[in-house]
Amino acid sequence: MQAEEIKQLNEQFASSTPQEILRFFIERYGNKIGLASSLGAEDQVLTEMVIGINPDTTIFTLDTGRLFPETYDLIDRTSRKYKKNLEIFFPKKKKVQKMVNAKGINLFFESVENRKECCFNRKIEPLQRAFKGLDVWICGLRSAQSVTRTDVNIVEWDANNNLIKINPLVDWTEDQVWAYINDKGIPYNTLHDKGFPSIGCQPCTRAIEDGEDVRAGRWWWENPDTKECGLHKR
Ligand code: SF4
Repeated sequence: MQAEEIKQLNEQFASSTPQEILRFFIERYGNKIGLASSLGAEDQVLTEMVIGINPDTTIFTLDTGRLFPETYDLIDRTSRKYKKNLEIFFPKKKKVQKMVNAKGINLFFESVENRKECCFNRKIEPLQRAFKGLDVWICGLRSAQSVTRTDVNIVEWDANNNLIKINPLVDWTEDQVWAYINDKGIPYNTLHDKGFPSIGCQPCTRAIEDGEDVRAGRWWWENPDTKECGLHKR
């Protein structure tokens, strides 16, 4: 997709609802569009919306092997509620085995490089496999989420993956997300009730204090500017 077309689409959808944005892309791209769900609150909202538009739309998630038990429980509850199995992608066993045996099971605490290597093997490579055959990925990024996400647009070209990336909730506030979840009875991760606004792998996520940035509990030992796993490079 050309930059000009992306610009036009961003103008076209500037005052559209997330459902209007999703409907347009789901109808246009059919089985070439997928929701990459991290099972966070935003992605649970998008799951409900996507299934309401077309229940056959691809929804997938990544099992890094280091998730919280509460996250596995959420996968199960989500699949049951919507009568649809989320497609789950796993890391390549040999890659993880080699990395862990060379650098330790908790290598990510040692350096940003180690952390990125772990994120690559457990998230990025499986995500790249999940993207095969897709033209568009639906993503739950909101611009208010953190300093690394302030420049998010509704429609973007993901040059790393050669895909269109759409962020239908880009302008939503956290309050809007939770109002929608409560209104629709959408399943969510119970860790959100225990001070975890952003949930990733268990060893790399902790609860935050009142007033801290919502992503302060992710890779909390790193500088805020490095705190993305590489999924959302722009
Ligand atoms: Fe590894 Fe932590 Fe990244 Fe998960 S979040 S893939 S455990 S470094």
